[in-house]
Amino acid sequence: MKALCYHGKEDVRIDNVPDPKIEDPGDIIIKVTSTAICGSDLHIYGDLVPTMQDGDVLGHEFMGEVVELGKDVKKFKKGDRVVVPFIIACGSCEYCNRQEYSLCDDSNPNEELCRENLGHPLAGFFGYSHMLGGFSGGQAEYVRIPYADIGPVKVPDSLTDEQSLFLSDIFPTGYMGAENAEIKDGDTVAIWGCGPVGQFAIQSAWMFGAKRVIAIDIIEERLNMAEKYGKAEVIRTVDADEVYEKLMEMTNGRGPDCCIDAVGAEAHGTEGFNKDLDMSQPNALAQIFKSCKKGGNVSIPGVYVGKVKELPFGMAMNKALNLKMGQTHMQKYMEPLLQKVEEGKIDPSFIITHRMSLDEAPEAYKTFRNKDDKCIKVVLKP
Ligand code: NAD
Ligand code: ZN
Repeated sequence: MKALCYHGKEDVRIDNVPDPKIEDPGDIIIKVTSTAICGSDLHIYGDLVPTMQDGDVLGHEFMGEVVELGKDVKKFKKGDRVVVPFIIACGSCEYCNRQEYSLCDDSNPNEELCRENLGHPLAGFFGYSHMLGGFSGGQAEYVRIPYADIGPVKVPDSLTDEQSLFLSDIFPTGYMGAENAEIKDGDTVAIWGCGPVGQFAIQSAWMFGAKRVIAIDIIEERLNMAEKYGKAEVIRTVDADEVYEKLMEMTNGRGPDCCIDAVGAEAHGTEGFNKDLDMSQPNALAQIFKSCKKGGNVSIPGVYVGKVKELPFGMAMNKALNLKMGQTHMQKYMEPLLQKVEEGKIDPSFIITHRMSLDEAPEAYKTFRNKDDKCIKVVLKP
């Protein structure tokens, strides 16, 4: 089959690789019908993620049709359309029982490698390094889904791929980002980053009862989307001093009640993916620590890899900020959010700006990384 494979920094290619096979009685194989590129994939593309290997199949946002089933699978039959969470979870360990699926104790076969890099074993992830299990990803024609009864969710015929695909990651991620900000009725919520995760955090902040939502970025079309679809007020700069001053002005010198970091490692002096926009200088998390209200809530769905430079942790401590973060506990959110889509409360397809074939994936990565051609989200069709 054809699949998008990692070959080093900014080097991804479509290769011919062996078709996946059922390896465990709880597996299913799906034929991928739609897949997307995520901001987290850019961390792999920029070579920030340790334990990648030459030839690894990428992709963790995907959906498709069930074509093969292991003998223990109960939830699905051949031909079902499913959307698959990027987190692989066993469903029965201490963490899964607490619905903390991204911390699953048992789904990652490379426990030791994960421990070496992160101190503890985390759940397996599709297409996201060997420390997170070495599972092949979904930017491919076919993919094996372990623990199939725990993760994937059946999609009704009434919904298109484009309406359901983002339940695989960015909609639940934005939603958990807002939930972790512990928004109370009437709160002012500021969201750093108007990429796909930021856009869904904006949508979700309203669902949790925000009175005002302020979105921060420097890319015009993303800010426009935050205004148009997100009904957010926007700050059109990422300059640290300007953002702080603007937020103080907008909140009578108090600062936002809740702050969400939907930027992550990109802008934090790792190497800065987007040097042209001088994103290596402003550190969103540092801005959040400085701008957030005393005793306010800080939620960090943005992914960090390694160490963060120039983080004023003393501000966070002395201002008694409440911090919550983590990879999304996907399985907890997919069914309830699918229901919102079915009820017409949200149509996640608003985020799509580019539709390309799987063969064009190398080009698509470049476009998404460089934010060329007003790119916000790319959907690939195998
Ligand atoms: P993206 O790269 O498309 O968007 C990031 C946005 O941040 C860009 O629009 C950029 O212009 C903006 N930005 C950069 N520096 C900024 C600053 N200082 N202030 C304000 N905005 C700034 O990525 P995305 O797909 O939206 O993902 C965002 C983050 O969420 C990434 O770190 C990604 O890895 C992470 N993520 C987390 C999870 C999870 O489970 N927690 C899941 C998916 C993605
Ligand atoms: Zn993702």
